[in-house]
Amino acid sequence: MDNNATSLNHIAIAVTDLDAALVFYRDVLGLRLDRVEEVKEEKSRVAFLPLGNSEIELVQPTADDTGVAKWLARHGPGMHHVAIQVKDIVAAMERLKSNQVELINLEPRRKSDGTLYAFIHPRSAFGVLIELYQSPISNLSVQGGL
Ligand code: ZN
Repeated sequence: MDNNATSLNHIAIAVTDLDAALVFYRDVLGLRLDRVEEVKEEKSRVAFLPLGNSEIELVQPTADDTGVAKWLARHGPGMHHVAIQVKDIVAAMERLKSNQVELINLEPRRKSDGTLYAFIHPRSAFGVLIELYQSPISNLSVQGGL
């Protein structure tokens, strides 16, 4: 069995109004808000709400031409994707490609903090958009966990 996938990193919820969403998720549901970030490479504002070893991310697009903005226009607010933490994203993607899985990103994309990520098309994942996620922290913990 492949143990490359290690945990649920985050669940992303697409919203049109981040402040209104925080009134529910933070103030009413009671999740802790760690931070709100402008993510320039994704043209979005993201609220990070840690939950155990995972997070809920509330994603509000800041432009109309992003994938999340187009998805919101079609579906309205809702669960957008599930991010699975992997130890080796390149190996995970090779495994998927060799099983004819449709990937949205053929190569890993890189965030400014060094996180590598790539999306699996919902057509190949029973209707769910899945993000593979290799964080710099997981690199450190893999190296430090010998
Ligand atoms: Zn994500």
